[in-house]
Amino acid sequence: RAKSSGQAVMHYSEELEGDTAVRLSLVEELRSALERSQFHLVFQPRLHRNESAALSAEVLLRWQHPTLGTVPPAKFIPLAEQHGLIDAIGDWVLAQACQQLASWRKAGLPVAQLSVNVSPTQLLADDFFSRTAALLATWQIEDGGIELEVTESSLVHDVVKASQGMQRLREVGCHIAIDDFGVGFSALSYLNRLPFDTLKVDKSFVDTIHLEPSSKAIAAAIVALAKSLDKAVVAEGVEILEQVAVLRDLGVDEFQGYYFSRPLAKEDFERLVRRSHCK
Ligand code: C2E
Ligand code: CA
Ligand code: CA
Ligand code: CA
Repeated sequence: RAKSSGQAVMHYSEELEGDTAVRLSLVEELRSALERSQFHLVFQPRLHRNESAALSAEVLLRWQHPTLGTVPPAKFIPLAEQHGLIDAIGDWVLAQACQQLASWRKAGLPVAQLSVNVSPTQLLADDFFSRTAALLATWQIEDGGIELEVTESSLVHDVVKASQGMQRLREVGCHIAIDDFGVGFSALSYLNRLPFDTLKVDKSFVDTIHLEPSSKAIAAAIVALAKSLDKAVVAEGVEILEQVAVLRDLGVDEFQGYYFSRPLAKEDFERLVRRSHCK
């Protein structure tokens, strides 16, 4: 099934680049995907270096298209952002994640944290803070159980506004992670003034960390910087054991990637949590 949906996806992207009419009809389908219940969440485990710690997960959105199969977020999130649909979709993701975490907690399943991707327009929307605060209060997860992942591109547009938003979100009990750190626009100069909890080292550094001294040097500098600011560090896109070894040496706190697990369906993630808890 994965293979056939992969082909469908390639087909999709060729059409997307080629034909404006097809592209617009896909936007229309994306517009109605929420009410047609075509979205679901998958959960990619984040493992702490201290193996006895509870698992966390990043929440990743999936669009099950009736004919194209699973469309990857790299294809439809940018479309949603361009066509003003991301706020509604992002609201849905966050509400689902809160509800899911609350329900796992209620069932006694030890899930430390769920992290949720937030697009720049969401973070910069005037009512995002108050709606998020209300959600956290409804589900009683004002203890950092939800972490919002923001990319550096959220900061480029209006760093003052973004950083105020981040601070207010932290005050109501959200954690904030800077995602894909080190690629694109690097906010090094004001990293020490940004209110956040976690730094995610981008996969592009992890890819060659065991091979190229320069990748390792950059990752080491990022980790050292984060540590000096008293932030947690997560490495993403960890695929092989050699990478884990280097990252461990550098002092990375949590690992995420195919080496440990692909993103999992809800039930599979629950099984994994139960199994690792019983060890
Ligand atoms: P991201 O935030 O950098 O998420 C990590 C992506 O890397 C995920 O792809 C994940 O499946 C993939 N990944 C994780 N470990 C490995 C690995 O070891 N090797 C490789 N090759 N890939 C790995 P995915 O699920 O396709 O998501 C792609 C991007 O779409 C995400 O990148 C994120 O920017 C965006 N996205 C996903 N869900 C949401 C959402 O709910 N809201 C928003 N705004 N963006 C989302
Ligand atoms: Ca992310
Ligand atoms: Ca990332
Ligand atoms: Ca990335």
